[in-house]
Amino acid sequence: MSEIRDLLRRTAELAADYLESLDERPVFPRVEPEQLREALGGPLPDGPSAPETVVDELASAAEPGVVAMGSGRYFGFVIGGGLPAALAADWLTSAWDQNAGLYAGGPSASVVEQVTGEWLVDVLGLPAESSVGFVTGTQMAHVTGLAAARRHVLDAAGWDVGTKGLTGAPPIQVLAGEKRHATVDRALRLLGLGAPEIVAADDQGRLEPGALRQALGDGPAIVCAQAGEVSTGAFDPLPEIADACEAAGAWLHVDGAFGIWAAVSPRLRHLVAGLERADSWTTDAHKWLNVPYDSGIVLCRHPESHRAAMTTSASYLIQDEGARRVRDQVDWVPEFSRRARGFAVYAALRSLGRSGLVELVERCCDGAARFASAIAGVEGVELLNDVVLNQVLFRFDSDERTDEVLRRVQEDGRVWMSGTTWAGRKAIRVSVSNWQTGDEEIDLAVDAFRDAYAKLPAR
Ligand SMILES: *Cc1c(COP(=O)(O)O)cnc(C)c1O
Repeated sequence: MSEIRDLLRRTAELAADYLESLDERPVFPRVEPEQLREALGGPLPDGPSAPETVVDELASAAEPGVVAMGSGRYFGFVIGGGLPAALAADWLTSAWDQNAGLYAGGPSASVVEQVTGEWLVDVLGLPAESSVGFVTGTQMAHVTGLAAARRHVLDAAGWDVGTKGLTGAPPIQVLAGEKRHATVDRALRLLGLGAPEIVAADDQGRLEPGALRQALGDGPAIVCAQAGEVSTGAFDPLPEIADACEAAGAWLHVDGAFGIWAAVSPRLRHLVAGLERADSWTTDAHKWLNVPYDSGIVLCRHPESHRAAMTTSASYLIQDEGARRVRDQVDWVPEFSRRARGFAVYAALRSLGRSGLVELVERCCDGAARFASAIAGVEGVELLNDVVLNQVLFRFDSDERTDEVLRRVQEDGRVWMSGTTWAGRKAIRVSVSNWQTGDEEIDLAVDAFRDAYAKLPAR
């Protein structure tokens, strides 16, 4: 046993060395794929290697190609870091190695998901009866929530999709905003629901409720709305969308991958007014909650439909207290054997507490506001979004200069963020979602852009 102890100690040192290096290393590594292939490749060895050798060599060969995503200087896409408690719980999860599909595969894993689910429903202000599933990310949360939706709206139309499938089923009208996330389309495709009918969005990417009202028919329908557009952070007007869905008897699914966390803050809660009226919600723990990958969450106001869409047991129904008492996670997610994902989410929430969660979300939004007001003062910059949350979208005076300044900032290595296109033009997106990002990191990002722009060759 002392061998495994030595190995894990050694690995903990390597991990801590890496985390301590985050302050110094360029955010995006200066590496070529051939270099990594050279260091990591070669034929599979014929015989075994000692575990410490494997881990040591893996660490030294892989680290040159590791992106400092956990750093407070990483502003790309929408990416969180790992809260210390969540990271540590994630390690324990691997050591415990439970098969958390069934209660019988790990009672604590099952109970911790139940408890964490109740905490989430509470802090997000969702209906108390909502069911919860812990999946790999918002992508699979969409698959789960929309499978529940499909089941529910077809049930209401007298069609049992679980036994009959979709062939010959009443058509389902699926509507989604123009600026929905690509993962919504893939989830619908996987579920055999085809491509959604597109509802127009405004200049911030918010679905137009008038257009939705016009488009909604009176058959079975699913509406996919969004809390937090990935470029602008904008929120679809949920109260009006919920009204339209209620009038048409449509299921309302809300993609809240990161934006749903506005619900925890008294200051930001107004952004998600009407959220609790939806039928299903999705979010990520690996983004703004700063849980290590991969960790997403689906919540559903109709536990019977949620379970019926996912369960592998003979009965679709939540029959009795016994079934409620013992939670088999396979009933709520698409996976069968699975990682005990709840532990890390539990640890993140518990280490933050209510006040820490509010502070994390508000500090990120304050950081975005600070960045936006400073970057707007940099020569050549045009701010493109109303900064209501943690996302800032801007560009320079031409597509070429936007690309060139961003390339220089990325190469400079102090910070990293990604480019995108918005309204047909090149743009730069800054996402403030890391638990370690403070004013210093924000100011560094502004300086990086100011320096890069100043060094552009004169036109
Ligand atoms: C990130 C994101 C997704 C996809 O989430 P994954 O965790 O990558 O599957 C979906 N919707 C929005 C708005 C997102 O920001």
